[in-house]
Amino acid sequence: MNHIIDETHDPAHTSWVPGADDHAEFPIQNLPLGIFSNGADPRGGIAIGDQILDLAALAQSGLLEGSALEAAVAASGPTLNPLLALGPEPRRALRRAVSTLLSDPGEQDVVSHCVHPAAACTLHLPATVGDYTDFYVGIHHATNVGKVFRPDNPLLPNYKYVPIGYHGRASSVRVSGTPLVRPLGQLKAPDAETPVRAPTRRLDFELEMGVWIGTGNALGETIPIAGAADHVAGLSLLNDWSARDIQAWEYQPLGPFLAKNFLTTVSPWIVTAEALAPFRTAQPGRPEGDPAPLPYLLDADDQASGAFAITLEVSLSSEAMRAAGMAPVRLSRSAATHMYWTIAQMVTHHASNGCDLRPGDLLGTGTISAPARDGFGSLLELTRAGAEPITLPTGELRSFLEDGDELTLAGRAEATGYRSIGFGPCTGVVLPATSA
Ligand code: MN
Repeated sequence: MNHIIDETHDPAHTSWVPGADDHAEFPIQNLPLGIFSNGADPRGGIAIGDQILDLAALAQSGLLEGSALEAAVAASGPTLNPLLALGPEPRRALRRAVSTLLSDPGEQDVVSHCVHPAAACTLHLPATVGDYTDFYVGIHHATNVGKVFRPDNPLLPNYKYVPIGYHGRASSVRVSGTPLVRPLGQLKAPDAETPVRAPTRRLDFELEMGVWIGTGNALGETIPIAGAADHVAGLSLLNDWSARDIQAWEYQPLGPFLAKNFLTTVSPWIVTAEALAPFRTAQPGRPEGDPAPLPYLLDADDQASGAFAITLEVSLSSEAMRAAGMAPVRLSRSAATHMYWTIAQMVTHHASNGCDLRPGDLLGTGTISAPARDGFGSLLELTRAGAEPITLPTGELRSFLEDGDELTLAGRAEATGYRSIGFGPCTGVVLPATSA
């Protein structure tokens, strides 16, 4: 179902929307889903170039019928949860109808009344997140972090059997652009006897992808690996902001808590599973000697096409850089193929004990680091826990994030013979701690 490539992916397909055909992220081959407002109530929209197609207006226009109309009606409210609950087929029907309407010059007069300049709109979280779970499937990140604690044995033995994850906090998931107020927490220096409460001194980012769940499963039922991809509505970028000093003190014995739940930022658009079909690629083979996944996590089709050819980048600008008119500096360049488990395996494992997933649930992949240093997905790795600071173009040093820093994630799906598509920014600026 998620593998269908049709006329909506044709690289020769063009739109009458000015600038859309040359747009780096949102050409007509993308058509990502989000929630926007422009004075009126928040409602569903589709990004096309520098414009947003208003799905509530489109649903009223009389231009849609059948399951495409059903999907647009479901996307007319303040969250996309009702649309996500419909599953892939209505979403695909809407994609095909919108692709035609935005391409056919004969439709321009009518449809252009449903299109708004994105610059005049506010973007919101695309769905109400009932539950947020963060995985740990970036094997190079897991190895790098493990080395800090266990130089000879960085990966624990469960890693190659279990897609490791923890339950995160849904209430503090926000859309790109939300400022990050430096959190306070308990910090304990290694040589100190007792902790102090202070603003974190080791504020970090984590380069991740977010997985939006479409249709879920009933409590007590599982999601077989062969159909797991149909439960994924689409992907976003995700920054799992982390306070390493709080984390180091609090994580034992139950894992991440206040070090990570002060804010999680996602890019505004759900790049749909349908749009990503051309960018599916084989899951990289496991290194010689690694165990095969247990049968419930192993599916030939998933192994053949369950990874995604998406390049990922992190960039930073300090307050001084922006004041001097300097462009952001790239910190890292990685790819979504550096995941030890596929997204389908994450979904299947999550439901494998009968835990129910619901439309709008959000899964983080975990930090996706490339093998080499220029592709590490956190400052913890890039600066070797602060020991080797990065020098910015202003001469400023960065071990961890400072107040005024603006951190941006970007992603780009690329495949030979197809128009590449992007995700929109996942950005946030660090503000000073406000209270004690
Ligand atoms: Mn994480």
